[in-house]
Amino acid sequence: MSKAGDMAEAYLNKLPDGERWYEHRKSICAGCPLNSKNGAELSALQKVTALVAKDGVCSVCGCPTERKTSVKHLECPDTPPKWTAVEAGGEDKALKDFSVSVEDPSLKVEAGKLNFVVSGGICKSEIYMVAFTIKTKLNVEVISTSSSCGCTKPLTTKTKDGEYLVTASVTKDKPSNYTTTVNVTFTRKNMKGKGALVTVPVLIKFKKTV
Ligand code: SF4
Repeated sequence: MSKAGDMAEAYLNKLPDGERWYEHRKSICAGCPLNSKNGAELSALQKVTALVAKDGVCSVCGCPTERKTSVKHLECPDTPPKWTAVEAGGEDKALKDFSVSVEDPSLKVEAGKLNFVVSGGICKSEIYMVAFTIKTKLNVEVISTSSSCGCTKPLTTKTKDGEYLVTASVTKDKPSNYTTTVNVTFTRKNMKGKGALVTVPVLIKFKKTV
């Protein structure tokens, strides 16, 4: 299943109750001081999410913990992460066919084992944005762009140079440190079925200004 499919599963399908990796992650969140269940302070938007989150909301990313922990390729947004990805899904190999770059000199990009990481974005206001470009020599087209948090609205457009410009805007009710993953899923034009799908996960890390 693609990364975009993983996110759809997180919000629409049955949770993987009883699976060891899932129960382990949930137990960490259950004891985490950054979980709203343990008194962590939430923003106004996060408080709305908390109304339907039975195991609490992570105050770092604003996601319901029982949903965030159900996606195998995601990791805890704390620094350092309290739990990490349990599935590569082969993307580490596939990522070698892609590169990610940024124009903004205040940002930096690193290629991790499971994802690309864009960091250095500064949150100065309620709405902030980061842009990066994905390049590949594969014969592909974008079929979906999704994010790990509902606060992030990602959009991918193909440029005239055949590259893919991704913009991710984040709306918060106040500036905050923020980590989100944007998943851009491509399909290879000369292939069919699940094997044709390649997802490029880009972890974005914002820092708040004081
Ligand atoms: S995702 Fe990480 S930071 Fe958030 S509540 Fe769970 S353990 Fe804490």
